[in-house]
Amino acid sequence: HLVIGVLAIQGGVLEHINHIKKLGYDAIEVKKIEDLEKIDGIILPGGESTAISKILRERNMLNPLAEAINKGLPAWGTCAGMILLAKEIEGEDACHLGVMDIRVKRNAYGSQLYSFVTLESIHEVCNEPLELIFIRAPYIVEVSKETKVIHKVGENIVAAKEKNILVTSFHPELSSSLEFHEYFIEKFVLGR
Ligand code: GLN
Repeated sequence: HLVIGVLAIQGGVLEHINHIKKLGYDAIEVKKIEDLEKIDGIILPGGESTAISKILRERNMLNPLAEAINKGLPAWGTCAGMILLAKEIEGEDACHLGVMDIRVKRNAYGSQLYSFVTLESIHEVCNEPLELIFIRAPYIVEVSKETKVIHKVGENIVAAKEKNILVTSFHPELSSSLEFHEYFIEKFVLGR
């Protein structure tokens, strides 16, 4: 049976696990290298990307996780998770996992729009409008030819996919809708 892992170092872990369980799938916390062998897909939650990256490195998980994703493990990064997956981070010299060919801008909405919620239709995901929740969110400033943009808010790219990887600037685990989790599991994990 299908097991979805949620990287459980920091951030919105339980919210993702609860959403997956509500859809009827198994979800486990991923805390060490061995956990990577038990899962069919992984969610990298929001939190603080630099803190998560530091702990991944300390636990010797950064390279094994990047390798697993490069080999095809379906991965979905929300907010800080998107920053962890990106190959380039604006204004910073280094990246973290560096597996998705996008350039992201951290805290891109600045202090005035620190957090906000907007209702938007994302037809790729479902027909009903979805509540998109942004918290000190990044957005994507550049994509490669391999990347498909899924959604923009105004001019800014806030959801995209590339091969086995999905990223969102916002937090579907904090809204009551299960549509985004269902989309990830059906299109990326089952449809692989
Ligand atoms: N600002 C955070 C970072 O740069 C991301 C915020 C979030 O995940 N809610 O890592």
